[in-house]
Amino acid sequence: MAEYRAPVTDMTFILQHLVGMDKIAELPGYEEASADMVAAILEEASKLSGEVISPLNIVGDQNGVALDEKGQVVTPAGFKEAYQQYAEGGWGSLPFDPEFGGQGMPQVLAANVMEMWQSANISWGLCPLLSQGAIEALESSGSDELKQRYIPKLVSGEWTATMNLTEPQAGSDLAALRSRAEPEGDHYRIKGQKIFITWGEHDMAENIIHLVLARLPNAPAGVRGISLFIVPKFLVNEDGSLGGLNDCGAVSLEHKLGIHASPTCVMSFGDNAGAIGYLVGEEHKGLACMFTMMNNARLGVGLQGVAVSERAYQLAVDYARDRVQSPAPGCKESAAIIRHPDVRRMLMTMRTLTEAGRALAYAAYGSLDHQLRGEDSALHQARVSLLTPIVKGWCTETAQEVTGLGVQVHGGMGFIEETGAAQHYRDARILTIYEGTSGIQAQDLVGRKTLFDKGEAMDALLAEMLDCVEVAQQGSDRLQAISGSLLSAIEVLGQTQRYLLKASAADINLAGSLAFNYMMLAGTVCGGWQMLKAAQAAENLLSTEDADVNFCHAKLISAEFYMDQILPRYLGYAGAAVSGSESIMQLDEDLF
Ligand SMILES: Cc1cc2nc3c(=O)[nH]c(=O)nc-3n(C[C@H](O)[C@H](O)[C@H](O)COP(=O)(O)OP(=O)(O)OC[C@H]3O[C@@H](n4cnc5c(N)ncnc54)[C@H](O)[C@@H]3O)c2cc1C
Repeated sequence: MAEYRAPVTDMTFILQHLVGMDKIAELPGYEEASADMVAAILEEASKLSGEVISPLNIVGDQNGVALDEKGQVVTPAGFKEAYQQYAEGGWGSLPFDPEFGGQGMPQVLAANVMEMWQSANISWGLCPLLSQGAIEALESSGSDELKQRYIPKLVSGEWTATMNLTEPQAGSDLAALRSRAEPEGDHYRIKGQKIFITWGEHDMAENIIHLVLARLPNAPAGVRGISLFIVPKFLVNEDGSLGGLNDCGAVSLEHKLGIHASPTCVMSFGDNAGAIGYLVGEEHKGLACMFTMMNNARLGVGLQGVAVSERAYQLAVDYARDRVQSPAPGCKESAAIIRHPDVRRMLMTMRTLTEAGRALAYAAYGSLDHQLRGEDSALHQARVSLLTPIVKGWCTETAQEVTGLGVQVHGGMGFIEETGAAQHYRDARILTIYEGTSGIQAQDLVGRKTLFDKGEAMDALLAEMLDCVEVAQQGSDRLQAISGSLLSAIEVLGQTQRYLLKASAADINLAGSLAFNYMMLAGTVCGGWQMLKAAQAAENLLSTEDADVNFCHAKLISAEFYMDQILPRYLGYAGAAVSGSESIMQLDEDLF
């Protein structure tokens, strides 16, 4: 089985021509992100991901993780060494503040690199993904003391971090959280059980920093009564050295459908005197602090959708080139299945959903860079906020389709584990569930991101997409054709949004009923927008001397395929969305 080959050409193209990396490199603090530096970083990351992390993917799937009698998680052979290489290479420090040992590189560049780790090995990649989210949460909400004590070690990768929200009775509904925190001097004593904690315990780093949501004794009920705490596995002395073991740890590991090498832990806090924890941010405002981490992780999980799609696509193409079955149209002899139109349909679907998802995810990260460092921060903040549930929801839903097609291209061998296609399918399945299910992302898009601002952020996005179509309509015949159907799709997205704004007040079930289709509609249309931008850039490049002709040619064809075969889905999503809630809700509960 071939190892992962990072799509550096596509990544670089998106960075340069769609996201506007040259403008991002002009933002204060990002001066180091020159084109040469970006190319060098992508090149080195592609080596580490392809040569070191990717070969561990199948090993991890087959061997999984184990909890030993001392309560320590043993990771699969090679995982720890790969993590050391990652930490020693400074990869965990890429987007962080130099004050804490970071390299101060743009978020969008760090996202490119993160995509590579996730493509190479989602199970392994989850560990650095969570650390990055925790660093952001601490940077934005931690006291100076907490920042100085914890961030540098997380940035250097010597320590890793986790996110502890879920409890047996509190999954999507965090208001039901029961873990408790009692104040005691300069710290708190945490007691409670958390479930499903990714990389909650492991042997890859010397300390694990748990970010834990819990309630203080006087906390109001609901989400307004939740506080956030840092609970280190090993306590940290004044001088930064490690102290004794804290009163917390993994009590068991879950057996899962996929991501076998990512330890999913049941964590117990405070079986004895109570785990020592330190408040992050203000009392009762923990959820807002945790949202920094959750938003980071939501975009990261969307990126995982793109990453596993890319991996499944590469595997399927390799197989389709080798597997010979039946004469293809126009041939007398049996041909490689890549020549059959239906296999082409599958491969092109996989390819274009991945390319569109990648471009959309990077657009969100690019906006994040402008939000963090640019002048029109509020505008970009609204854009990132709007795109986050779309990237998380749509890119992970399409990953189900893409990895499913990856199995299908392999025929019966796709169902057999040794090809690896099944692993991608199984690994991808969690992506629409953790970090907020697709249903929760869709509700976020409808509620907080559309109804709350009366559609303002979506209107700005619609206007930008329409501008893009208008420019294309004045371009070549080919661009006019590519952009033709996108115009209608953008208009229909606008109409659906207006229907939502108008009709939801009169029907309490409407928002929840149309949310998923609205999210998929938005993702499909935004994907089309990115593919149009890619086609415009590819055509421009083709008129220059040093263009990569094959790449640009393929990009234009990808855009044409997307508009012909993927974009028409907008009619189905919009049609379902504006059908309202009646047929969804009218069947009596007893009749199910
Ligand atoms: C492998 C794995 C790793 C995980 N890692 C972590 C981690 O590191 N840290 C952590 O804290 N958690 C983690 N989780 C937990 C994960 O985030 C939750 O499983 C997820 O948020 C869903 O919660 P739940 O499982 O309780 O499902 P439920 O909330 O019970 O949802 C069940 C179904 O009901 C739907 N639903 C629920 N509420 C609503 C609503 N209001 N409106 C519409 N639909 C609704 C959901 O969409 C879903 O389809 C992990 C889970 C797994 C399986």
